[in-house]
Amino acid sequence: MTDDATSVEGAAEAADPQSAAANFGFEADVARLLELMTHSVYSERDVFLRELVSNAADACEKLRYEALSDEKLAAQAAAPLVTIALDKDKRTLTVTDNGVGMSREELISALGTIANSGTRAFLDKLGKDKDAGFIGQFGVGFYSAFMVADRVEVATRRAGEEQAWLWRSEGKGSYQIAPLPLEEAPAVGTRVTLHLNSESDEFLDGWRVENVVREHSGAIAAPIDLIAAPGEEPRRIAEGVALWTRPKSEITHEQYVDFYRQLSGQLDEPALIAHWRAEGRTEYTVLAFVPGARPFDLFDPARTSKSKLYVRRVLISRDMAMLPAWLRFMRIVVDSADIPLNVSREMVQKSPVVGAIGKAIATRVLQELKKLANAEPEKFAEVWKNFGSVLKEGLHEDPSRRDDLFEIARFASTKSGEKTRTLKDYVADLRENQTAIYYLVGDDMKRLRASPQIEGFRARGVEVLLLDDAVDAFWVTSALGFDGKPFKSVTQGQADIDSIALVDDAKTADTAPADVADLLSALKETLGEYVDDVRASTRLTDSAVCLVAPDTGFDRQLSRLLAEHGQQAAFGKPVLEVNSRHEAIVALATALRAKGRDATRDDQFLLLDLARVADGEHPIDAAAFAKRLATLLANKG
Ligand code: ADP
Ligand code: MG
Repeated sequence: MTDDATSVEGAAEAADPQSAAANFGFEADVARLLELMTHSVYSERDVFLRELVSNAADACEKLRYEALSDEKLAAQAAAPLVTIALDKDKRTLTVTDNGVGMSREELISALGTIANSGTRAFLDKLGKDKDAGFIGQFGVGFYSAFMVADRVEVATRRAGEEQAWLWRSEGKGSYQIAPLPLEEAPAVGTRVTLHLNSESDEFLDGWRVENVVREHSGAIAAPIDLIAAPGEEPRRIAEGVALWTRPKSEITHEQYVDFYRQLSGQLDEPALIAHWRAEGRTEYTVLAFVPGARPFDLFDPARTSKSKLYVRRVLISRDMAMLPAWLRFMRIVVDSADIPLNVSREMVQKSPVVGAIGKAIATRVLQELKKLANAEPEKFAEVWKNFGSVLKEGLHEDPSRRDDLFEIARFASTKSGEKTRTLKDYVADLRENQTAIYYLVGDDMKRLRASPQIEGFRARGVEVLLLDDAVDAFWVTSALGFDGKPFKSVTQGQADIDSIALVDDAKTADTAPADVADLLSALKETLGEYVDDVRASTRLTDSAVCLVAPDTGFDRQLSRLLAEHGQQAAFGKPVLEVNSRHEAIVALATALRAKGRDATRDDQFLLLDLARVADGEHPIDAAAFAKRLATLLANKG
């Protein structure tokens, strides 16, 4: 494109459309977004300035990066600078940078389509949630300018090119691009001019603008000058120093928070800030944040641990996946002098130095999380609430980190109440003869707490971990155990808790177990198609029946998850356990003896359906179930 644009330069009348002014329609989603922006009632309109300033600073960083490998550009890459100028008479606010600029093609793709994932996510969320009080959470991007302007012009010149362009739009479905005489264009970079709308007078005021910049952009990587009125001297309102290069003792908490907000595009307070310099074989500086709120795309499969990687303060990559996926909620900046600059980004990503730095950072982050967990348990509880389900992925994916993760992991359990428990707590509370750490996995905490499968454990004072994250079904099978105790599902195999004494207040059955041998074999025959076995239970105290997985094979919840993913074969038949002290069972055993198997067939099926419903499943045959239950009710009186 570079060559084309230069070759037609000056030939304004040429047939080549590239040299003439042209009109373009916005991509459909942009048009929708603009419609929202122009009619916006958002209170957070000032985010537009954050977006423009961050684009300007990005452009400066891009030029510095390109200049590394291009001498011609190196000559153009002056010290980065962003200038905001106000003009009350013309009602304009302009943001000028000396960054990389845009070619004609770049203008079309950058300012005519939705290239930015934050903007895309914002649109998706808007589709679902009409109350858009959350605009500030998103990097809504360039188009936010139309919240305050009814006309926007972008004059730009791509570094290294001879042709400049003027992009303009009223934000109403179309935009125009025309060649711009060089004397009207910025010598290097981009000038964005907003013709402010009648509701946006406040942004013509120097103090107001300065405040917005300090609040949202104080930690930006380029210095920012303000020209409050035409002819006035520029005044520096942000220094643009790379925060991480300064000694910790000189940085205030507010500066860290500002920097985090700039980096993440989120407005929350970070929950953890770690800033350190590593010396030794490779030297590097890290500034790392654990967010105080969940990023909107935490579970987006495309989300990686976005790290900004600098080499001697030149930004090499803004989204390098340096950390493992289970730390993808972190925001980090890494600056190292030991990474070779003369290789491509892809090579940098694969370089062993970067790999080693990433590992070392993960180790340090785990240490910091441990420290926080010990020093400020409440604060850590919040971190765990937000990111525990992501951190737990590490238990499955990164065996070498398992022990460290177990130290910080928090769980709900039959003893946790509203709080959480650590595995250390669990092991300290083991009952005599207890040989395993018991757990129950599911997707609904309320149902987990009410599960029949844990009744016998409760009666013996044996704690059961209640795990309701999708990832839980997986790590419990790959983790070997904790403190020498294996993890064991309470829904799998025979409950081996007979040797553990009942606790005093447990409802010890005054009735001896009934003789249910006949009932068990009748059930086995009647329900053989649906269950692998039927047996008397040691784990039930209050409920009549429950389903468990056979001794070998998968836990019930894992089988269910695998079945959902189409792996039907993995879903073996469950075992039906029967509480031989329960009056419903005693009654059925009696009825069986009196009336025979066929006459009690419906009741036998009801028992199975009962167990299924308690597990959150549907009855085998909903219509038959309804009929059987209705008959049972009819016979009641
Ligand atoms: P994002 O910055 O997240 O990519 P934006 O909507 O803010 O999304 O900007 C879209 C694109 O427009 C940027 O990626 C960049 O390519 C281009 N752009 C915007 N402002 C500038 C600028 N001042 N200089 C160079 N390119 C810019
Ligand atoms: Mg942007």
